[in-house]
Amino acid sequence: MREDELPDPSGQEIKAFVCGPTVYDYAHLGHARTYLAVDMMVRYLRFRGYRPYVLMNITDIDERIIKKSKETGRSVEEIADRFEKAFLEDMKALGIETIDRFEPASNHIPDIIRQIGQLISTGHAYETETGVYFDVSRLTTYGQLSHQSKADLRLRRLELCSTKRHPEDFSLWRKFEEAPLWDSPWGPGRPGWHIEDTAIAMKYLGSSYDIHLGGAELVFPHHEAEIAQGEALSDKKPFVKYWIHTGMLNVGGVKMSKSLGNVVTIRDALTNYTAEELRLFFASTHYRRVANFCKSELLHARKELGSMRKSMDRLSENSSGKAAGRSDLRLLRDLSRAEADFTSAMDDDFDTARALRVLSTFLRSASQVRTSSEFEAGTSQAVVKRVLAMANIIGVLATSTAMPSTVSE
Ligand SMILES: [Zn+2]
Repeated sequence: MREDELPDPSGQEIKAFVCGPTVYDYAHLGHARTYLAVDMMVRYLRFRGYRPYVLMNITDIDERIIKKSKETGRSVEEIADRFEKAFLEDMKALGIETIDRFEPASNHIPDIIRQIGQLISTGHAYETETGVYFDVSRLTTYGQLSHQSKADLRLRRLELCSTKRHPEDFSLWRKFEEAPLWDSPWGPGRPGWHIEDTAIAMKYLGSSYDIHLGGAELVFPHHEAEIAQGEALSDKKPFVKYWIHTGMLNVGGVKMSKSLGNVVTIRDALTNYTAEELRLFFASTHYRRVANFCKSELLHARKELGSMRKSMDRLSENSSGKAAGRSDLRLLRDLSRAEADFTSAMDDDFDTARALRVLSTFLRSASQVRTSSEFEAGTSQAVVKRVLAMANIIGVLATSTAMPSTVSE
């Protein structure tokens, strides 16, 4: 997303929806990457004078939760409650404070049923003996987000079911006999994942909103299906103005996945590194690119953070009572330039990596100037305040220099 695409900032509201986690296990660093990127974007939008309103769904109806319930003998509700609570704790621990509202799918069954009924009545969905399916054949736009042709889509073989009209149709409601079940006009069953999001998004954000965010793995079929539903439910187009997808996360150079057994939970990562170290690490790679979580990168982030803090300390400690002079003017001029560069990096598709380089380069040179002459107290205070405003977008330099309890070398 570029600056010229954004509306005029003057207090304008920006409505955003973020695809939340499925609460069957602890959240991992892939979640951290996406939600930290969202947090930094929202902090920046606020900094630029917008009024973002951010909604996140919680997927608490899902086959993986049911599977876990069968494995552990615990109820579906108990598992979902436990991991939703853990997720909210993790978000807090990472300093993610920009999500205005979290909404679990199970609280929105009537909204979901209403939308499915509407889709059937307009001919966009049909009932079979196994459930209700969305008929994608009528939509010319289906496949555009993921750049797939009709022929490509037919080959994806998702949700195999002989009762569907087309292989690429996706479920809105699945009929089941085993709990958890909800009643519906089509018999007891459970909603499809895609319609959960659309029902929640449209309830709180309206029939068209500004930004939808999530991991790149959600582009197809999830987000493609959401566009299909949203555009079939409303005359307003586009359903979503900007789609923002975060890139994949590798661990030690290998894709992080459950099947490879290399999943790192947010809690595990926070026993070795501080939230600020994780934030600086993630901000160092553009959100769309592949990020690689490894010890050397994290130790680099720790060192970088340490030197940024040292520069800040020098700036705030060594100001004198003397009048402002040439060095003050030079420092303020450099700061204005750094602010302009920082803003232009963030305006360029939220390039936190470039913005961070601008910030650390400014701090390094500012602390060098300091060694030869002292600044007037007012200059130091103003510079520290303005640097903190930028650092706060990344979410660093706000806390003390406390190190985590266990430091792995
Ligand atoms: Zn979603």
